[in-house]
Amino acid sequence: MTAKSIIIIGAGLAGLATGCYGQMNGFKTKIFEMQTKPGGVCVSWKRHGYTFDYAIHNLFGIISSSADNKVWRELGALHGLKTYSFREFVQIEDTDGKAFTVYTNLDELERHLMALSPSDKEKISEFVKVCRRFSGYDIFAAMGGGFGTMIRLLPVLRSLMKYSKITVEDYAKGFSDPFLQKAFPTIEYDVPGVPVLIPMIFLSALNKGDGGWPIGGSLALSKNIERRYLELGGEIAYRSKVVKILVENDNAVGVQLEDGSQHLADIIVSAADGHSTIFGMLDGKYVNDSIRAYYKSYPKTISFGFEVWYGVNREFRGEPHSLVLFQTEPVTFEGREYNRLDVEIFNFDSSLAPPGKTVVKVVLDSNYDYWHKLSKDTKAYTEAKRRIADIIAERLDTRFSGFKDQIEAVDVATPVSVEHWLAAYRGYCVPYPAPKEFAKAVSKNGVSKTLPGLQGFHMVGQWAGAFYSTNQVTSMGRDLVKQLCKKDNKKFVTTTAD
Ligand SMILES: Cc1cc2nc3c(=O)[nH]c(=O)nc-3n(C[C@H](O)[C@H](O)[C@H](O)COP(=O)(O)OP(=O)(O)OC[C@H]3O[C@@H](n4cnc5c(N)ncnc54)[C@H](O)[C@@H]3O)c2cc1C
Repeated sequence: MTAKSIIIIGAGLAGLATGCYGQMNGFKTKIFEMQTKPGGVCVSWKRHGYTFDYAIHNLFGIISSSADNKVWRELGALHGLKTYSFREFVQIEDTDGKAFTVYTNLDELERHLMALSPSDKEKISEFVKVCRRFSGYDIFAAMGGGFGTMIRLLPVLRSLMKYSKITVEDYAKGFSDPFLQKAFPTIEYDVPGVPVLIPMIFLSALNKGDGGWPIGGSLALSKNIERRYLELGGEIAYRSKVVKILVENDNAVGVQLEDGSQHLADIIVSAADGHSTIFGMLDGKYVNDSIRAYYKSYPKTISFGFEVWYGVNREFRGEPHSLVLFQTEPVTFEGREYNRLDVEIFNFDSSLAPPGKTVVKVVLDSNYDYWHKLSKDTKAYTEAKRRIADIIAERLDTRFSGFKDQIEAVDVATPVSVEHWLAAYRGYCVPYPAPKEFAKAVSKNGVSKTLPGLQGFHMVGQWAGAFYSTNQVTSMGRDLVKQLCKKDNKKFVTTTAD
C-alpha cells in the first residue's frame, strides 16, 4: 500500500511537529513555507554581530521527568542545546527604587514578599501555597491532553477552576501594600484579562526547574526540529507561499503556490495564520459563527506587537534578565501613554552577542492601524520607528547610565513587519482570547482545528487553538497525526531523536 501524503502549510513549530509525527507514522509529508528559514515566530536574525530573538522567554518541559519533555525528545528539539533556568521570572521596579523580584524559587519568593509587605502575610501564603501545590503536577501538559490526562489533575481541579476565574488585576487588589497592588498585575506582561492561574502555573513549573531558555534561543530550537524532520525523510520547500487551497467536491486536494504551481496530496494541513488560511486560501467558504465571531473580535492592541532590540556594548552583569521599569513621566507611544517599560536583558546567553556585549529588548502593546497607515509613506514609517527607539533608549539611559552611547545596533518590529513576514492577519504575532459566548467551546476545541463542510483538511498551531505556547502547538501536531492514524486503524508510534 502506498503511503498517504500530507501537505503542510507553514514551517513554524506546529507545522514542523506535524511533519515529524507524520513521518514517524509512515505518511509522506511535504511542508511549504513562504519564508527562507524555519520557526515562524520562533526565530531570530543577526544585526552587526548581535542576534535579535523574536519570541520565547521560557521554554517549559526541559526536565526529563516532565510530560512535555517527551515531545521535545521526540522532536529532537533540545538536542545539543544547554538550557538556562532563571533565578527570577521578572523584577518590577518602582520610580522610587522599590523592587519586587518574582523569584522562581518559591521559598525565596515567599521570604521576599513577606519582607516587602508583612501585612499581606495571608495573601502571600495563599499565593505561594497554591504554586507549591501545582508544582506536584504537569499542569500545562495535562490540560492539553484530553480527559485521560485531565483526570490526573482531580486533586487540584477546584483550585484550577477557582484561579482561572480571577484575573491577575483582581487578585492584586487583595494585597494591602500599594506597591504590590501596582506591581503584581505586571508579572504576566499585563496582558488584559489573564487569569492569576497562568503565573501560578508558570511559577509552579519554574520552581522545580522545568522552564528556561535554550542557549542559542528561538532559532536554535526551530532548527533542531527542522533537522529532525529532514532526518525523518520529510521535505521542506522554502520561499513557497501557498495562495490557494485546492478543493474538489468539498474535499481539500492540494495547494497552489504564488508561482502558479499546483501540488496535490491526500490530506492538507494548514499550520499558517488562521485568517489567511480560512478567508484567504479558502475564500471564506468554510466558516461558522464561532470562526466569524473570533476574527471580528480582535482587540485594538496586540500584545508583544512592538519590539525594539538594542545591541549594547555593555555586560549588564548582575542585572535581572527581565525587568518592568515604572516611569516617572509616561512614555507616549502611538498616541497612548505608557507608565512602564518591559525590558529583557539577554545577558545569560553569550552566544547572542560578541564577548562583553549584550542584546536588550523592549516590548510594547501595539496598534496595527497606526503602523499600517504610517507604512504607506516609507520615510515616515522608518522615522517613526527610529523616534520611538530613541525615546526608549533615553529612558533606559536613566536606569543604565551610559546606555545610549553604548548602542551598536538597533532593530524594530511593528505589526506591519509581522504581517509581511508571516502573512499574519493585522500583524497579530499571537492569538487573542475568544469572545465570551464562544470562550468555553474554543478553550475545549480551539477555533478551527477542522472547518465546517470541508473534508481532508485540518489546522494546527496557535491560530487553530487560539492559544500560544511552543508546547501547545507542537502537541497539536502530535495529536493530529494520532487522530489520522486512528482513522486509518494504524497504531500511532513515536521515536526519540537520540
Ligand atoms: C513575542 C512572543 C513571545 C513568546 N514567548 C513564548 C514563551 O516564552 N514560551 C512559549 O512556550 N511560547 C512562547 N510564545 C508562543 C510560541 O512561540 C508560539 O505560540 C508558536 O511558536 C507558534 O507556532 P505556530 O507554528 O503555531 O505559528 P507560527 O510561528 O506563526 O508559524 C506559522 C508559519 O506559517 C508560515 N506561513 C504563513 N502563511 C503561509 C503561506 N501562505 N504559505 C506558506 N507558509 C506560510 C509562516 O511564515 C510561519 O513560518 C511566544 C510568542 C511570541 C510571538
